[in-house]
Amino acid sequence: MSNQITRRQAIALTTVAAGAVLAAPRLASARSRAIGLWREAGLDLQQAGEFTLPPLPYANNALEPHIDAETMEIHHDRHHKAYIDNANKALAGTQYADMTSDRILGLLDETPDDKKTAIRNNVGGHVNHSMFWLLMAPTGKGGGGEPTGALADAIKQAFGSYGDKGGFKDQFAEVATKRFGSGWAWLIAGDGGKLKIVSTANQDSPLMAEKFAGPGAAGTPILGLDVWEHAYYLKYRNKRADYITAFWNVVNWTRAAQLHTGTMGAHEIGK
Ligand code: MN
Repeated sequence: MSNQITRRQAIALTTVAAGAVLAAPRLASARSRAIGLWREAGLDLQQAGEFTLPPLPYANNALEPHIDAETMEIHHDRHHKAYIDNANKALAGTQYADMTSDRILGLLDETPDDKKTAIRNNVGGHVNHSMFWLLMAPTGKGGGGEPTGALADAIKQAFGSYGDKGGFKDQFAEVATKRFGSGWAWLIAGDGGKLKIVSTANQDSPLMAEKFAGPGAAGTPILGLDVWEHAYYLKYRNKRADYITAFWNVVNWTRAAQLHTGTMGAHEIGK
């Protein structure tokens, strides 16, 4: 009897918590659905409070020869960790300290000026890198190959082809190559679920409002590539194009397809 009451209370509490998440402002359902998929994949973008460094889902050397172990180690253990430490520092004692990372990014426009840049750069950096690790996998063990199913069809429809000259791979590589300085190249689902290739500067994220992500660059990330020099310089030196070519060997298309399916489902249901 008392067990049953406890269970009922627990269910009631769970319902309240779920309602609170759904009521979060500026969280469109497509984005919310994608964040749920990220969570299932082991990336807790809903995490509130102090952010912690998520472990790499593979060994430092697992992406060799395409991305070398030393680059992975420095990139994850030092660069990503620094974004997290600086994000926690910027958030401490503010009203944002207990918010989830996606909500913090959604509220940037209202963030006080003395915190805005630090939060934009470092919460952005944390979220972007958390996604990046999960969107790669060792070649032949979840990494490489080509997209399949509905994502392959959508890529063909949006970009003409996946790998033919002038198709998706070429268009993505061009955007990634042309990003001046530091930033990211993304495949996103934009308005109505339409696939687009976009680039963001520095640690800006498609999860931010367009004002911050850049014109046309807000949406739900499906694939992302870090083109900061720290992501490739040890092995590829100044040859960013070679790093971009190598990236295709480690893309986790299964995960990208899951994100695409989730996003499309949300758009079919309606916003
Ligand atoms: Mn990076």
